[in-house]
Amino acid sequence: MAKLRKPEERECERCGRVEVWDDDHDTWRVPTDDDEDVDADAVGDVHCVHEWDIDGSFRPIE
Ligand SMILES: [Zn+2]
Repeated sequence: MAKLRKPEERECERCGRVEVWDDDHDTWRVPTDDDEDVDADAVGDVHCVHEWDIDGSFRPIE
């Protein structure tokens, strides 16, 4: 039932935070245990000015 799919991912080059793209909500979010391919521990620093490793290659459309 659950189909495997590779989520869009981005990782902060400064603090190591990892986020995945949530198609259902059109937003980035921290991965959960449901995201099998992602390290769910990589929350990073909440005060960090995140510098994503994919900047420019993917951005939500307003
Ligand atoms: Zn960061």
